[in-house]
Amino acid sequence: MDMKFRDKNQAVFLGIRVGFIFLITVIIIIFAAYYTLSQNFQTLLANYTIKLVQAMVAQGVDRVESELAIGRKEAAMSAAFFDTAGTPIPFFPGPDTVRMVYVTQTQTIASDGRKQVINDRPDIRAAFGGKIAVYGPYFNERHEFVICYSAPVIRNGKIRGALSIEKNGYTFCRLIESIRFINTGESYIINAEGTDIAVSDPRHMEWVTSQYNAKKILSGQEDAVTRSILELEQKGLDGEKGIGTYFWKNGLVYVIYEPIPSVGWVLFGGLREEELAAMTQSVFFTSISGGPTLKICLAVVLLLTVLIIYWIISSMKKSAEINKKLEIIANHDALTGLLNRRFIETGLAEVWKYPVRASGQAALFMLDIDNFKKYNDFYGHLKGDDCLRQIAATLKKAFDGYNSYVIRYGGEEFIAVVFLVERKLTLELGDKICRMVENEALPNADGGVVTVSVGMCHMPSTVDVSLTECIQIADKALYEAKKGGKNRAVMLDVPQQAHDAAPLQEFFGSTTIS
Ligand code: GH3
Ligand code: MG
Ligand code: MG
Repeated sequence: MDMKFRDKNQAVFLGIRVGFIFLITVIIIIFAAYYTLSQNFQTLLANYTIKLVQAMVAQGVDRVESELAIGRKEAAMSAAFFDTAGTPIPFFPGPDTVRMVYVTQTQTIASDGRKQVINDRPDIRAAFGGKIAVYGPYFNERHEFVICYSAPVIRNGKIRGALSIEKNGYTFCRLIESIRFINTGESYIINAEGTDIAVSDPRHMEWVTSQYNAKKILSGQEDAVTRSILELEQKGLDGEKGIGTYFWKNGLVYVIYEPIPSVGWVLFGGLREEELAAMTQSVFFTSISGGPTLKICLAVVLLLTVLIIYWIISSMKKSAEINKKLEIIANHDALTGLLNRRFIETGLAEVWKYPVRASGQAALFMLDIDNFKKYNDFYGHLKGDDCLRQIAATLKKAFDGYNSYVIRYGGEEFIAVVFLVERKLTLELGDKICRMVENEALPNADGGVVTVSVGMCHMPSTVDVSLTECIQIADKALYEAKKGGKNRAVMLDVPQQAHDAAPLQEFFGSTTIS
């Protein structure tokens, strides 16, 4: 019983250990793969991230274009409905519209009542020429930062003037606000003159207001960074789109640029190298952790681990079962099904020393079938085997209900060990066995029945007497039983000091039952 328990525990511990080793191996493989592939892998991811930023910049261009289209449409519609005779001019407030200004060759009327000569402004001139034009950024006389959309006012087939809508210039800052990377990366728009007109970081809006003519300020400095920035800006202004880099504060800055065709503006998305790396990582981890990949991988690893642990435990259990079966086969006699002689050394010797049993009384019976050679000679060996089986069954029955082990010692000899049994009961049991075998009434070769002789040895405690010693005493008693006429039980007591060197026979006192 305790052996089975030990095997099971060993299986579980081994399973856990192997599972743990397996997990660590998987983690090491993942890290090794990561480090081996990291160079190529990171380049791949970085390229992917740049493509992502390019897509964001392209989206920004679309947004700006559609905002410009709205402004143009508003200007065109206002111009179409504008009543040239009406003073003051009506105000159609669209989103972000600051005011409207009507301009003719001779006068200017604004919706807020102000008058300013602006008829030489490019957009107004373009409107006089019949076109819808965008101009900006522009600071009106109220110092409002605006983008102007101007459209011709046509009456009776003649251009009477230009209607200009001034819309909040910061609208474009808001439009490109989402094209920002991590912390310091920024996107910005320059107009056809190369002037910064919108920046994505709201903290830099003030800068747009005061320094919007940055190109003119910067171009005076002629430093390397400015030159490379201006070169990239020029590419954009030339209608190209692409990716460029420049060094700034000991770091590489990536610039993705794309023209906004309808106005000749350019949108720039800039991010530092470390931001690109951070973004690459976050893109990678977001794509992994956001999608099912990571969960699936973890689930697979976990499932594999569980399966391996299960497989190890179950195979350990199976082998423990097989071992147990082999142990049973090894300890049992094939003919009678009783325990065999091997069990005396492997099992019984252990039990003999077992503290609970050792402290109690025990009896050892040695049994031998009487005149069995004759039986064999008379009935044949096969019948002899049947007889052995029957006697074995009778012995088993006789000791049933006792704390006992019944063993085929060899040939037609048996040993039975009964624990926790008193001396008197031992004597009774010896007699009972003889009577039980006799009562089986198996005919022998002489016209009588098969009988057995029993030699017994009773011990007050197994601690005092070794198993071998006990067998020797019981054997001696069996010899006495045979000598006394067979079909009887003889008990020899264990000498008071069995371990003394004196010859055993001197201490034996014999009791015979017939
Ligand atoms: P005693 O009354 O003195 O014990 O006489 P015995 O004839 O029984 O003693 P002996 O030891 O001379 O004979 C034992 C016989 O048991 C010898 C052998 O043929 C027989 N025997 C031993 N093992 C087996 C077995 O497995 N099957 C059969 N059929 N006979 C066996
Ligand atoms: Mg014999
Ligand atoms: Mg015999």
